[in-house]
Amino acid sequence: MRLAIYPGSFDPVTNGHIDILEKTTRIFDKIIVSVVHNVTKQALFTLEERVELIKESTKHLDNIEVESFNGLLANYIDEKKACAIIRGLRTVADFEYEAGMATMNKILIPKVDTIFVMADTKYIYLSSSGVKEAALLGGDISLLVPPIVKAGLEEKLKDIKL
Ligand code: ADP
Repeated sequence: MRLAIYPGSFDPVTNGHIDILEKTTRIFDKIIVSVVHNVTKQALFTLEERVELIKESTKHLDNIEVESFNGLLANYIDEKKACAIIRGLRTVADFEYEAGMATMNKILIPKVDTIFVMADTKYIYLSSSGVKEAALLGGDISLLVPPIVKAGLEEKLKDIKL
């Protein structure tokens, strides 16, 4: 079975992430979306909330599992017997960071490669942080995130005073 891991912060999941999942679930037998705690980013949603939002937003895809994990990605991939890591590429700005991470993971777990999928043109400039900022400032994010995520953001941000 060709199993791939799609790791990320997903704080929160956007239509850009869902698009990558719609594409890669056609290529692999199964995708595990792995929500990780990124030490360099202050999260708005808890790991559990992020997992739940992804599960709710991917009900139309049947070969997906969603979970969170802590620790080294290479060990986790080995444990799951995955054959690939999925990452999305938007602009050239993503490339440097992603190339560094893919190289490190290739050294740590040589039998597994990182597969990059280009973002859809309509999602090239879409990021979780951009969505949070737009929502905080009262922007309409309906075209950028699934409805459940929009509702979750409204709930989270309603008590934040600017
Ligand atoms: P990170 O894991 O670096 O904290 P994210 O959780 O935002 O980043 O994203 C997880 C993966 O999805 C990364 O490979 C990122 O480049 C990719 N990604 C983020 N936004 C989009 C988008 N709009 N379209 C396609 N891929 C995306």
